[in-house]
Amino acid sequence: MRLGECREECAVFGVYAPGEDVARLTYFGLFALQHRGQESAGIAISDGSGIRAHAQMGLVQQVFDEELLRSLTGNMAIGHTRYSTTGSSYRRNAQPVLDATPTGALALAHNGNLVNSQQLQQELLRQGTVLEATTDSSIMARLIAQRLAATGDIEAAVAEASRLWEGAYSVAVMTEGKLLAMRDPNGIRPLCVGTLNSQGYVVASETCGLNVVGAEFLREIEPGEMVVIDGGGLRSVRVVPAGRPAMCVFEFIYFARPDSHIYGTLLHEARRRMGHQLAQQHPAEADLVIPVPDTGWPAAIGFAEASGIPFGQALIKNRYIARTFIQPDQRQRELGVRLKLTAMREVLGGQRVVVVDDSIVRGTTKRALVALIRRAGASEIHVRIAAPPYRYPCFYGVDTSDRRELLAARLDSVEDIRLAIGADTLGYQTVDGLLEAIGLPRELFCMACFDGHYPVAVPDEVKARKFALEASPISPAATSKIAGDG
Ligand code: 5GP
Ligand code: SF4
Ligand code: MG
Repeated sequence: MRLGECREECAVFGVYAPGEDVARLTYFGLFALQHRGQESAGIAISDGSGIRAHAQMGLVQQVFDEELLRSLTGNMAIGHTRYSTTGSSYRRNAQPVLDATPTGALALAHNGNLVNSQQLQQELLRQGTVLEATTDSSIMARLIAQRLAATGDIEAAVAEASRLWEGAYSVAVMTEGKLLAMRDPNGIRPLCVGTLNSQGYVVASETCGLNVVGAEFLREIEPGEMVVIDGGGLRSVRVVPAGRPAMCVFEFIYFARPDSHIYGTLLHEARRRMGHQLAQQHPAEADLVIPVPDTGWPAAIGFAEASGIPFGQALIKNRYIARTFIQPDQRQRELGVRLKLTAMREVLGGQRVVVVDDSIVRGTTKRALVALIRRAGASEIHVRIAAPPYRYPCFYGVDTSDRRELLAARLDSVEDIRLAIGADTLGYQTVDGLLEAIGLPRELFCMACFDGHYPVAVPDEVKARKFALEASPISPAATSKIAGDG
């Protein structure tokens, strides 16, 4: 078990809609956002006089059933789905996090990762506060609760607590009477707000979470902005000065669902254009372009469009299996590929194929995939990747583990990576090509995993843990016990 290196994407959802079945709406919202985390799911609900919550390990559909949903009644709710790796796969780390104060309870759902959680935890310990859960999110909840206990004013409490947080956070916070949603000053993780019928509001990590419940997109919550929703409607409070916007570029490439919009752009379109760029930068002589399902689809469509090479489907995915990334160790991951994908011999036999995928992280699945396609009879395999080489670890809510595990960090050249995955040719997107495809300026994004420029400074000791390319001299016991989560 590795501690302190356990973070991934998560989904946040919130709804304020007196008179509606808010638990069910949250369930639908989380269902649409399931791709952001499959390890645990939870809903907290308020009926104006108290907060109740249910959270468990598992997919949204596994965690909630009809009976449970019917028992969760109230005026507003927040929900969360979470992914994390081994170290923190505990029920007690499932969200929403609950915290209680003499003046009332609060629930919090968080996507992102704080880079200073260790410092904050030490500070809490010094004050004699012992936290049951081990996530940065529970630290955030406690910092809010302390301030809420002192003043009874949740807006001031969140505002004050957030000034201590460094890193990535898109959060929904709920008390008995209010729903608040906030993004970090750089807006690293997405969060948007919409209207529901005449008086309700919905917040969601992605616009697909609004659409599914019939909410109308209002706008993205701005970096450093806190939105307060209660009986008086929606108000915006600027809590921390906005920094430079730094949306995670991987939301555009991979994480977010293709039917979501970020910065006003439909991600399916941006990804298709990534395929156009790839076809221009790395043309191939081939008979067939195939996507790696599901996240390689839009870029593969784009590659086929721009190259004129016929588009085809040769890999069939078992829809009922969660992402292979979820498997905690390498062997399980390789096995996962075979469980997840089959290659059709009838389509691939004797064909020169272009295989398009969104990214290479560890390269494990790519290697297994290339072998699978080769065994199915393809005569040439040309791999094209919609993202540039992934060289630096993420500290803002994505578990790429450490640099040792990143294929493009371990190997010096694209040629070495090609050999490692067993392809005949390999072409990566360039950063310029990526930006061209997205159609927005570089200044709006975090691209740290490509260029190592981290928009929010990462403390040295935190950085060191994931940066060593050699085997880490730090013993697991010496590393932080704080599991980030996503
Ligand atoms: P690899 O070929 O490096 O073993 O796996 C890369 C694939 O894993 C990507 O194509 C993507 O579909 C999937 N994946 C799962 N989780 C993540 C993640 O957190 N980041 C990225 N970039 N890809 C991920
Ligand atoms: Fe996204 Fe990479 Fe930045 Fe992490 S480092 S927030 S994965 S762009
Ligand atoms: Mg994939």
